[in-house]
Amino acid sequence: MAKQQTFAEKVAKVTAQHGKKCPKCGAIKQPLLYISSEPSKHGSIRFSHRRIQVCKCNEKEVYA
Ligand SMILES: [Zn+2]
Repeated sequence: MAKQQTFAEKVAKVTAQHGKKCPKCGAIKQPLLYISSEPSKHGSIRFSHRRIQVCKCNEKEVYA
């Protein structure tokens, strides 16, 4: 079962490196690709993409 233990440790390391801890709420910030749609002048819809960090401070705004 040594292999399984090693795998679990690797996963924990990767997860820890991915998110930065928010100083306000203490939650790990999750990187998210935020897509918002806005109507253009020609009647078609334009999509804008941006990468944001989501934690408890702004998750309500993001998922609303
Ligand atoms: Zn926060």
